[in-house]
Amino acid sequence: MRLFMHKTSPNFCTQPISDGSHRVVVSLGSNLGRRIINLHTAVTALVKIAVSDVGCSAVYETNPVGYLDQGKFLNMVACFHTQLQVRELLSYLQQVETACGRRRTIRNGPRTLDLDILLYDQEYVCYRDLQVPHPRMWQRGFVLVPLAELLPDTRLLGGETVYQLAKSWVATEEVRYVGRFW
Ligand code: ADP
Ligand code: MG
Repeated sequence: MRLFMHKTSPNFCTQPISDGSHRVVVSLGSNLGRRIINLHTAVTALVKIAVSDVGCSAVYETNPVGYLDQGKFLNMVACFHTQLQVRELLSYLQQVETACGRRRTIRNGPRTLDLDILLYDQEYVCYRDLQVPHPRMWQRGFVLVPLAELLPDTRLLGGETVYQLAKSWVATEEVRYVGRFW
C-alpha cells in the first residue's frame, strides 16, 4: 500500500483562512451499487458548495468495520472551503446521501454513500446529532490513510499527527490503494 505525504496537499488545505469561508474536510465512503460512480457523484455535489478547489485524496478499498457481513468499501477524503455553517453542511451532505439512494437500515451497514464531516475549521462542535471533529476518525484506517495525503501534520490536543497515526495502518492491508480519479 502507498502512503503519500505532502505530495498532493493543495495549499488551501493548510493555509490560514481570511475570506470568511470555512475549511472543511469530509470523508466519503461507498460499498453498495456502483461505488466509484457514487464517489464521483458526491465530489460533484461538494464542488457545488465549495468556494475553493476541492482537494481529493486517492481512493482506497477497505474492509468493513463494525458490521462485517457486507461488501468492501471505497473510501476517500476531500478538503475545500465553503460558506455553509456546520449544520447547513450536515444537512446538505445528508441530502446528497439520500439522492444517491442511501437507505438508513442497520448501523454501520451497507450504504451507497456515507458522507461524514471530519473537520470544520479548528472548531469543536458537540450536538446530539453532530460531533466535529468526527469522534471516531482517529481510530479509522479508512479515514486516516487518505487524510494523511491532505493533512499529514494535523493533530488534536497534543496527540500524534495524522501521518503518525496513519502509518500504523500501512502494514495491516486493511486499507488498499486503488487509484486517483481526480
Ligand atoms: P456513521 O457515519 O457513523 O457510519 P451514519 O452515517 O449512519 O453513521 O450517521 C449516523 C448519524 O451520525 C447521522 O444521522 C448524523 O446526525 C450523526 N453525526 C454525528 N456527527 C457527525 C459528523 N461529524 N458527520 C456526519 N454525521 C454525523
Ligand atoms: Mg455517516
